[in-house]
Amino acid sequence: MREREIDIIERLIIMNEQYFIPVFDGHCDTAARIVNDSDFDIGKRQTDGHIDLPRMREGGLNGQIFAVCIDPGYPERVWEEKTFESIRIFKRTIEAYKEEIEIALNGDDIQRIAKEDRIAAMIGVEGGHVVSSLEVLERLYRLGMRCLTITWKNTNIIADSSEDMERWGGLSDFGRDLITEMDRLGIVIDCSHASSGAFFEILNRSINPVILSHSCMRAICDIPRNADDDQLLALAENKGVVCVNYFPAFLEEKSHRDIMKVWSVYREKKGILSRRYGGDPERAGKELLPAAMNKLENLLMPGLSLVVDHIDHAVRVAGVDHVGIGSDFDGIPLTPVGLEDISALPNITGELIKRGYSSKDIGKIMGGNLFRVISGVCGSG
Ligand SMILES: [Zn+2]
Repeated sequence: MREREIDIIERLIIMNEQYFIPVFDGHCDTAARIVNDSDFDIGKRQTDGHIDLPRMREGGLNGQIFAVCIDPGYPERVWEEKTFESIRIFKRTIEAYKEEIEIALNGDDIQRIAKEDRIAAMIGVEGGHVVSSLEVLERLYRLGMRCLTITWKNTNIIADSSEDMERWGGLSDFGRDLITEMDRLGIVIDCSHASSGAFFEILNRSINPVILSHSCMRAICDIPRNADDDQLLALAENKGVVCVNYFPAFLEEKSHRDIMKVWSVYREKKGILSRRYGGDPERAGKELLPAAMNKLENLLMPGLSLVVDHIDHAVRVAGVDHVGIGSDFDGIPLTPVGLEDISALPNITGELIKRGYSSKDIGKIMGGNLFRVISGVCGSG
């Protein structure tokens, strides 16, 4: 039997159980494509990129956190305005396809939308650098943001990033207030990218389960961006979820070295060119990306079974109730073989079946756990 067919049978078993279990991905960067690429139509099947509505349907997806990420290379004074503008454009686009997709604000929304055979889109913001005050946080909440990734690659006024200098030893005073306010409003706290110090301080401070929306395991690929076993154990105690990222540079150290050799040069050049344009990383990126992609295309990528190795490890350490999927699609320049875009999602299910996971556990990993955290944090009305 083909994997796709096995997957359909599995999903029917899951749906036939008493409770609702959506297929839900914790992180993608498709919102940036919607906002910055006027030729991109999410309603049409594309030949490039990783996500559009037809391919989401093919992949059997019920829901997705779409992260809006404003490059810190833009002048600081425009971060806030760009975030609000991006969310508005994203919402307008989703509204134009309301037959197929709708913004979800909580667990009830996700359940209702999925049962109508449409896709639930949850708005996230990646990078707390754009949140300069608790008032901004509340405005973002009112616009529909239900998940905030505390840091991106840069240490910000809230917390330290895993890929930048340590400034606070975890959270700043403002960061501590922000966590309390996120708990009060009902916004999912996303610790992907944050430093280990920030992660543990957030877990101590928050009353809610947290997520790592797109992170891999340090036990397999030892880089600061990934989660170590102590973090996984703490996450289990917190009742949170780690959603596994598909980026080969986070999946294995060899790919990390190969990709970063090209990617860090690209980023550096992009920063320099962006400054020359008066702070326009988008324009600089568009100019420099094709050459970088040419170099990357020749690299040999791992297969999707390596993604499932990371899932396996997280399940062994944290338990099957604390693992999910967080593709990082449209934010990663390369993907594993067999997981080229969102339509290939059933291949993960197929691999989990091969490794002996029960349909109930597959349901938890493919979205049930993330749905549980979102429903708990964002309330049900
Ligand atoms: Zn990210």
